[in-house]
Amino acid sequence: MLIAIEGIDGSGKGTQAARLVENLEDEGYSATLLSFPRYERTFFGRAVGRFLNGEFGSLADANPYLVSLLFAGDRFESRDDLEIATQEYDIVVLDRYVGSNIAHQGAKLEESARAGLVDFVETLEFKIYNRPRPKLNILLDLPAETAQTLVGRKQTRNYTAQSHDLQEADGAYLDAVRRMYLTLANGHDRWTVVECVRQETLRSIEEISAEILQTVLQAAKS
Ligand code: ADP
Repeated sequence: MLIAIEGIDGSGKGTQAARLVENLEDEGYSATLLSFPRYERTFFGRAVGRFLNGEFGSLADANPYLVSLLFAGDRFESRDDLEIATQEYDIVVLDRYVGSNIAHQGAKLEESARAGLVDFVETLEFKIYNRPRPKLNILLDLPAETAQTLVGRKQTRNYTAQSHDLQEADGAYLDAVRRMYLTLANGHDRWTVVECVRQETLRSIEEISAEILQTVLQAAKS
């Protein structure tokens, strides 16, 4: 079973994906984690790193259809690793997956042009590259401003020397990605939304992880 953890940069995906693996193991499942993009593992992952470091131009310069090819290529190149993981473990937790590509590239377009992009990326990843669909996509939702504060707490990453990469530095862009994610998730099968902020307060990592675990355990039984 594939479970994708989705959300804007700094929403807690890495933290929650790692906890989910541990919590599932405590529940008796075998579980493993695969994080995308795989900046250091694949040819396309390295290209994504260069894009996020600004080497291919600004966010507005880079055509979202063309950018989506890099992220999809990273998953295509990782197909054997994902196949092995799904054979060896009950549950594979994905820290970002196809949903990230759709939300990030779609957010760069006018609302009326987004459906075309959604169709393009879904065809590319699920049909042309034949990537498996997750049983469940879990969207960690929170305001862009809160997420940006959390990004500031991250350790320096290998692919960029900057504290905030190209996407993380742009609050308006992150807000557009958040809205794109909510459109993707709301009312759709295979998606569930976890609210990370309640009454304007960030919920604790433990509280959020407990909710995620319950959702995944339910999906595992259905
Ligand atoms: P992402 O993978 O979505 O970019 P991370 O999991 O790296 O986000 O989280 C960004 C930072 O915020 C990390 O330092 C993490 O420990 C912290 N963090 C994540 N969720 C919470 C939370 N609910 N409360 C407090 N800090 C959090």
